Parts: sequence; structure tokens; C-alpha cells
Amino acid sequence: MHKRVLILGVAVDNILIDDGIAAVARFIAEGGPHHVVTVNPEFVMEARRNSAFRRVLAAADLATPDGVGLLLAAHWCRTPLRGRVTGVALTERIAAEAARRGWSLFLLGAAPGVAERAAAALQRTNPALRIAGCYAGSPHPADEPAIRERILAARPDVLLVAYGHPAQDLWIARNQPILRVPVAIGVGGTFDELAGVVPRPPAVIERLGLKWLYRLIIQPWRWRRIMTAAPIFLWTVFREGCAFDALHTE
Ligand code: UDP
Repeated sequence: MHKRVLILGVAVDNILIDDGIAAVARFIAEGGPHHVVTVNPEFVMEARRNSAFRRVLAAADLATPDGVGLLLAAHWCRTPLRGRVTGVALTERIAAEAARRGWSLFLLGAAPGVAERAAAALQRTNPALRIAGCYAGSPHPADEPAIRERILAARPDVLLVAYGHPAQDLWIARNQPILRVPVAIGVGGTFDELAGVVPRPPAVIERLGLKWLYRLIIQPWRWRRIMTAAPIFLWTVFREGCAFDALHTE
């Protein structure tokens, strides 16, 4: 049992990576459709203006805290989160567990060829890993039937969707009732990082929670998004006070 905290109205599970893996294993054992979201400050800000996205986040089976801004906000509000569970870390640990337990992965999204390169990187570290499929596709609704056909044929245990937020999680919410993959996870820029399209920050930068600063330096054109993710988010928490409710979930 762990606590769930509400950050500006968005629920986040107060978990560490081992809890995340335990939840994924439980979802696969149960079967049926589950949705995992990797919440960062940009998600929270988007959910404030996008009610469809807000509903999808609220309905998720697991919401991992992905981003140091959430930890700072939670600390400020005296309901500290135990740590971060990023999309990249979750994907890497799932790949390791999958190789051990025989789960198969489907990688959907990113630019053409990137999912294949990310899968190859995961298989280099985990030679026994089964990749059920890779496909770039697009989050456009017109492409959904063809994408669903591929995934239904591949029958993966875990579906990783990299269309960025909010598109990837809206996509999962629309399609999971038909796909019924045991676990579908919106993973943002994870494939880009695994494939080396976007350089990965050194471990020490990750540990210090300075990935946002690293990205600002290597991708300066993303400054507006990074500003939303860090200072504007923290200012909003500060201004609106701590609307954190501790909820207990199974
Ligand atoms: N992406 C995609 N199709 C789209 C929009 C985005 O495949 O129409 C991919 C993009 O190539 C990248 C990922 O989605 O791999 C988004 O990464 P980002 O770091 O921007 O994720 P976010 O922070 O939005 O979750």
C-alpha cells in the first residue's frame, strides 16, 4: 500500500522504481488493459487546461513521479515524494524484468526507425528480451485502425507509446479498450534517449535533478517548454498553495 498525492489536482503515486515494477508485474498477471502514466510538471500544467487529458490521468492505474519539479513541489508542501520514476528508468527496468520473466514489448512511436534502434539498445543489455514489434506510426486518429491491427497481431505484454504528452496518453485511453494489452505506458522521449537521438545526461546530472538544465543547454529551442516545466510550475504551486491530498491506494 502506498500513498497517492495530488499535485495541483493531478494524482501521483508515491513510489520508487521497485514499486513500479511490482505494479507492472501485477498488471501482467491480472491481464486486461492497464494504463501507466509518467507524470512530470508539464503534464500537470497541461491537465489544468485540457480536461480530456485531466480525466485520462485521473483514470490511470499507475501515475509515476517523473521530474524533479514534482519532488520539489511535494517537499514544499510537506508531503514529500520518495523519489523519481522516469520513463527511461521504468523502460530499462521493464526490459530487464521482461528478459527474465518472458514478457514481450511493443515499441510504438517516435520518428521512423527510432523505436527499432531503442529496441536494439535494450536487447544489447538484455539479450533474452523479446520484442513483439516496433512501429513509428503517428498519433493521428486516421492511423489508429492500422496500428491496432499490428499490435493485436503481435500480442505484447507491455506496450510503450512515445508520442509525447498529451497525445500518447490520449491515444492509449482511446485504444486500450480494444487492444486490452496488459500494460500500456506513455513514455515520452524515452526512445529518443535509448536510441541516442537525444544525448543522455550523465548519471550525476540525473541524480542531482538537473536534467532540465542539461536539456536547456543541449536543446535551447525547447526553452518555453522547460520554463513551463520548472519555474512556472513551481510558481503555480507556490501561488495556489498546497492542494495536496494524501490518498491511500492499494
Ligand atoms: N512524437 C511522435 N509523433 C508525434 C509527436 C511526437 O512520434 O506526432 C514523438 C517524438 O518523436 C519523440 C516523442 O514523441 O520521440 C516526444 O518526446 P518528448 O520528449 O517531447 O516527450 P514529452 O516530454 O512531450 O512527453
